[in-house]
Amino acid sequence: MDLITDKYKRVIDYLRISITDRCNLRCIYCMPPGGIRPIEHKSLLSYEEITRLVEVAARLGVRKVRITGGEPLARKNLPFLIESLGRIAGIEDISLTTNGLLLKQLARTLASAGLNRVNVSLDSLYPERYRRITRGGDLHDALDGIAEAEKAGLLPVKINVIPMRGINDDEIEEFSLLTRDTALHVRFIEFMPTGSRDLWSRDRYIATDEIRERVSELGALTPVRARKSGPARYFRFNGAPGVIGFISAITHHFCESCNRLRLTSDGKLRPCLFSETEIDVKPALRSGAPDREIERLLRLAVEIKPERHSIASQHTFDHLKPMSKIGG
Ligand code: SAM
Ligand code: SF4
Ligand code: SF4
Repeated sequence: MDLITDKYKRVIDYLRISITDRCNLRCIYCMPPGGIRPIEHKSLLSYEEITRLVEVAARLGVRKVRITGGEPLARKNLPFLIESLGRIAGIEDISLTTNGLLLKQLARTLASAGLNRVNVSLDSLYPERYRRITRGGDLHDALDGIAEAEKAGLLPVKINVIPMRGINDDEIEEFSLLTRDTALHVRFIEFMPTGSRDLWSRDRYIATDEIRERVSELGALTPVRARKSGPARYFRFNGAPGVIGFISAITHHFCESCNRLRLTSDGKLRPCLFSETEIDVKPALRSGAPDREIERLLRLAVEIKPERHSIASQHTFDHLKPMSKIGG
């Protein structure tokens, strides 16, 4: 099996797959109040098309896939896709990023279909504030979803929190302390200027260094060595069952160890989160092109993957699509 390595000697073994750009929430940092004009259903890759692409990608060395969106649990028959992906030789890990609202109903079925793990986005532990940040979400549904995911063995359950100054940054300590009592992995993610240009500002944004300083005032943090931690740096309080992660999307670049490609829900391979360069694989998938053509497009996406990309140095963010379109 051929592991694809790019020009900068990075092994590309991870594919993030967005299966929809629709969502049952309208988080203030991700979408405008009225939502965004969704991609037409016929333009979405079918589960069969996604599976075929992953089969070819697995032959090139992709080992891990993550399903995301929009809200992936809002697309019908997701367990069918998970099962199909689980049957592909070479795929070792299937995970999901979700707002968790539908996990209560779906966690067990997804686990039986072969899903390994979930990440749940959760930006407040207070019902009213959660409702405001998500523009209508019910915190209890998200918490029930997290509990159900744990029961279904989708472990470790990782909680993604975006601290925003003046909105939820007073909860940094409370979120961190959850890891003393539970086995949750709480990950703080830097607020990025995508899909939220009216809300994002340098004052609102909080660098992970500052978040980490505040967390370490609660107790000493010991680094946790993860086999492959990707962009996150992990720590734990002494003796704590849970883990705290810091993801510095803006301040500390992890481009030198970037191992991923993204697939948008309408079939574009996106080599870098912050670059609008995309390769359309849908025409090849829909015209009955042979596997070697799909392979050529995958290799091309790897070949044009930039060495790095910095949004920290940019003055305008107008070209950045909202995360719900790219897949986060
Ligand atoms: N709907 C699912 C969810 O919320 O987890 C999956 C898709 S969402 C676009 C994926 C991730 O992108 C979430 O963890 C979300 O918090 C993150 N995200 C969206 N907008 C962001 C922003 N402006 N800055 C940082 N992260 C963002
Ligand atoms: Fe939906 Fe996720 Fe975006 Fe929130 S962050 S609006 S849940 S896609
Ligand atoms: Fe990878 Fe691009 Fe993100 Fe750097 S900015 S870590 S190259 S996706």
